Amino acid sequence: MKMNQIIQQLKNSKHILLATHIHPDGDAIGSLLAMGLALEEIKKKVQLYNESVLPAVYNFLPSIHRIKDYAGALEAYDTAVILDCSDLQRVGEAAEAISRTPVIINIDHHATNNRFGRYQLIDPKASATAVLIYRLISAMEIPITTSMAYAIYTGIMADTGSFRFSNTTSEAFKICHEMVLNGADPHKVAYHVYETISLKRVKLLNMLYDTIEISENGKLSSMTLTQNMLHATGTSITDVEGLINYARRIENVKVAVLLYERADGRQMRASNDREFHVSLRSDGSVNVANLAAAFGGGGHRGAAGFDIHGSLPEVKTQLYSIASRLL
Ligand code: 5GP
Ligand code: MN
Repeated sequence: MKMNQIIQQLKNSKHILLATHIHPDGDAIGSLLAMGLALEEIKKKVQLYNESVLPAVYNFLPSIHRIKDYAGALEAYDTAVILDCSDLQRVGEAAEAISRTPVIINIDHHATNNRFGRYQLIDPKASATAVLIYRLISAMEIPITTSMAYAIYTGIMADTGSFRFSNTTSEAFKICHEMVLNGADPHKVAYHVYETISLKRVKLLNMLYDTIEISENGKLSSMTLTQNMLHATGTSITDVEGLINYARRIENVKVAVLLYERADGRQMRASNDREFHVSLRSDGSVNVANLAAAFGGGGHRGAAGFDIHGSLPEVKTQLYSIASRLL
């Protein structure tokens, strides 16, 4: 029923804005590309929007250049499709302007989705938003091109951690199998996303290793990434994708934390007060979405995040208070 309404709305639209969350991951980027390219196949005029610089590891995706950091003339759109966002604010600065689009369609798999928009396609059991895009594209009987196959495959691979996380389902494999039949090369995707790492990224990882700390009970690990480390290695936030997993893999660790010092927070604030983005990753036994929600953020069971400010020692004290609650 809902799916049919969404299909009708898309078919009746002429000019569609598609957007996803700031600091996008593989699922956000893959879903955005696949949905945008599919709508283009049925002759819709589309604009693919993301506010942030995209992680460099996704540059190999066909049509990645179609994603722009400007949303265009917002009054021109009859419909906005918002992907992989638990609330509309996750889109970033354009959220408020986008909220005035006549019709908003919300496609997401976060359990914490606040059901914004006129139409929703939400399934927290789906491994990735890219799964929902596949279901929608299939229901619309739009043929899957090689570019779309790469986008959907990469989205599902990224959100399941290469089919290792607890959200890996038989449907994820089934869709990815079909994407391979449609031209996505698994080795090519893995090669770009996991198997190639620039020398500067290795140097950054080396610095990050040096910042690893473990809670007294061994269940929480943290890494701290400062702007100085990015400067020293010539890297940027686009090179950081996935590095938190090195702290998550440590024996007995249930929750890994990456504290990222934001660039803009520093000049704005006096004294030692800084802005941090906190990424949380779980070994599968702890729901980190709940932990993030307690700090005003959100996410999934296995991967979540939030923003916080304070001095580094203050912020660490708050984070390490989580450790004693881990069983
Ligand atoms: P990351 O740690 O890579 O920034 O994000 C991991 C997961 O948590 C993603 O699904 C992302 O959408 C979600 N997430 C990260 N930061 C926030 C936040 O500040 N608010 C909400 N609602 N979700 C977040
Ligand atoms: Mn996702």
